[in-house]
This record gives sequence, C-alpha cells and structure tokens, in this order.
Amino acid sequence: MAEREKAGGAEQGAELNINLNQEVKRREDEMIRLRRDFHQHPELSFAEDRTSRIVADRLEKSGLKVRTQVGKTGVVGILEGNRPGRTVMWRADMDALPLQEDPDLLPFHSEIQGVMHACGHDAHTAIGLTVADILARYKNDLPGRVMFVFQPGEEVGGGARAMLADGLFKEGGPGGGRPDVTLGLHVGSLFPAGKALVKAGPLMAAVDTLAMTIRGKGGHAATPHLTIDPVMVACELVVALQTLVSREVPPMSAAVLTWGAIHSGTKDNIIPVEAHMMGTLRTFEPEVRRHMLERIETMSNHLAKAFRAEATFRVTESLPPVINDAALAARVWDSAIRALGTDGVIDGGQRMGSEDMSVFMEEVPGCFITIGAARPGETLRPHHSPLFAMDEICLETGVKVATQTILDLLPNR
Ligand SMILES: [Zn+2]
Ligand SMILES: [Zn+2]
Repeated sequence: MAEREKAGGAEQGAELNINLNQEVKRREDEMIRLRRDFHQHPELSFAEDRTSRIVADRLEKSGLKVRTQVGKTGVVGILEGNRPGRTVMWRADMDALPLQEDPDLLPFHSEIQGVMHACGHDAHTAIGLTVADILARYKNDLPGRVMFVFQPGEEVGGGARAMLADGLFKEGGPGGGRPDVTLGLHVGSLFPAGKALVKAGPLMAAVDTLAMTIRGKGGHAATPHLTIDPVMVACELVVALQTLVSREVPPMSAAVLTWGAIHSGTKDNIIPVEAHMMGTLRTFEPEVRRHMLERIETMSNHLAKAFRAEATFRVTESLPPVINDAALAARVWDSAIRALGTDGVIDGGQRMGSEDMSVFMEEVPGCFITIGAARPGETLRPHHSPLFAMDEICLETGVKVATQTILDLLPNR
C-alpha cells in the first residue's frame, strides 16, 4: 500500500503526499505491457476503435466517469475530486501512422501490415491511463477535477477540433465544462531518455498544408513549342519560392517551406496538361505566416503567367503554433523537478514540428511537455520513420511528471 499523509497547508498540491516512485513502480510492468499491446495493434487516425475500447474499459475500471465517441473515436475520462479546486485537462493522442515497421527491430513489432506507432502515441496512451489510475486512488483527497482526454486523429491534424466540435469544453458536454489548464506530453526519440524538457513560450510551429495546381497545355514531347509545359513551371516555382524564405523572412524569424510531393505526367513522350504540388509551410509568427502565404500565391501566379501557364494555390489545412503559457511553464518546470530532481529537467528547444494540441491550447492556456526517449548507444531513431523506437524508461518519466504537475495545478491558486 502506498503511503498517504497530510503535510499541512491549505489546498496545496504538496498536501497530498503521494509516494510517486512507489505508485509508478507498482504499475510499471502493466504500463509496459499496455504500451507494447498498443504497439502491436496500431490503428490509423479516426480508426482507433480497439485502442479507444481498451482506454474506456481501463478508465472505467479505475473509477472514472467515461464518455466515448467524442470526436468520432475519442474517449474522455472525468476524475471528480472530493474538494473544491480547478479543472486540469490532460491530453493523450492515440493514433498511428501509415508506415511499415522494420519487423526485426522489436520483438513486439506491429502486427498490422503498413501501420505503425512511429510517433510514440502508444506510449502517450499508456502513460495517460497510468496517471488516471494513480490519481483515482486519491480521489477522496483530490481537489478539483481532472479531465483525461484521449484524442484520435492527431497525425491528420483534425482530432482536437473534432473533439471540441463535439462539445468537449461546453457546459454539460462530454468534458463537463471548460478546463482551467490544458496539459499534455510528447515523447521525443532525439532527446535524452529519462529527462523532461520544459519551455516557456513558442515550442512547435504553426503548419499550413499547401496545394498548388499548375495548368499548362499538353502535347507531344517532341513539339514543346506547341505546348505549355507545366512540369517546367513546377520546377521553376520550387526554386523561386525558396527565395521567399531566404530573402523575405527576417533572418531571426523562422520559416520552412517544403514541397513534399510533385505529381505530373504519365509517359516519357507526353507533355502533361497539369502538375500538382503538395507542400507544408511552418512558421511561428503570425506576420511571417501571413506574408509567406500571400507571397506564395502572388509569386506563383506571376511566375506561371510569365511562362504562359496558370497557377492555382490553396491552403487545405492549418494548425496554430504550440505556445506554452509562460507562468504555467514555470510551474510545470517546478513540478517536473519535484518529480525527477534537478538533473531530470532541461530547457526544451523550439522546433518546427507541429501538434494539434495547439488547438486546445488556443482555447485554454496550457503547457506541452517533451519527455526524452532516445535509446542510449543507438543510431538515430527518428519519429515518422520505420526505424522509430524509444527507451521505455520514458513511460516512467512521463507518468511521474504528469502526475506531479496535475497534482500541483489542481488546487485553487
Ligand atoms: Zn507524429
Ligand atoms: Zn506525435
């Protein structure tokens, strides 16, 4: 049995003196088993049926009030404390990626052809369930309310919005009202395992998904003078648009423009009618974002015209940047130190990846934490690659930081 003692002080997080090490140790084997089970049975965005069934079942067993099918396959578990306090939201995402895992890498590799947990969302789900189970044990002494949000569809960027559209933050909705704080974590295979990275302010970039169509005039490859070649225009555009980053964005500001896909043509001796480009724009500052979007459109229109072609530019999807609330990040930093010791917490660097946690954080101020998961002595195991792997010590680190942070933020102050 874990020890529970009152340490005095009105409604302080520290009042609930949970022996975190002991609580995590008792659940460690089960947490690893759960994570490996999710890893073996990965599910794509908005198809997390098996995962969400297990999540709902475990939350219910832990004694939480559970709502399913929030944002299609999302699950919400409410832990109602017995004393007055704030509402803290903890978010975990559940979806996997359309990737084929290297089957020789791990003994518990994916059993689903072409689907892989290559971003660590299996770990996020196992961590979230373990935190809920620990806190549920202290329900009677807990101030406030914890809203555990198991989100679908992070990798396609629509999961958080789908849950909000189902009334997650609405009075009487599945979350039981608006939270005061939003929290969540992501494991990071490029950061040292066992460490928590906490950063105030901008953390992850805004993303705009771009679609460009260049319309020319098709014809025989041997008579280019009778055609307008959209492939050549696409090539010119890719090069010219990069100058927006190098020549028009202030050097101390960040912007990335990548065209990840160009599709055109069917055969060597046919000049096609159209070329299609798909790209991504990453920025932090709204002004830089606005300028880039406007200039991509103007430059592509003008450049296409110069070659007698026509360009149509669209933004198909947008996510805001992840900006950690500064005051909150300072408190999370202290909580992480309480959970891991001073050596366990480092200042997390800004990066150009994106996360739809930002959609929740745009509604309610929050803090997104990174948990290091690099496997010592191994080559790089990057996210979104068939080689992705993590040091499972990150599960324990994640649970400790999450539990301590939630406990510290629940009291009214
Ligand atoms: Zn990912
Ligand atoms: Zn992810």
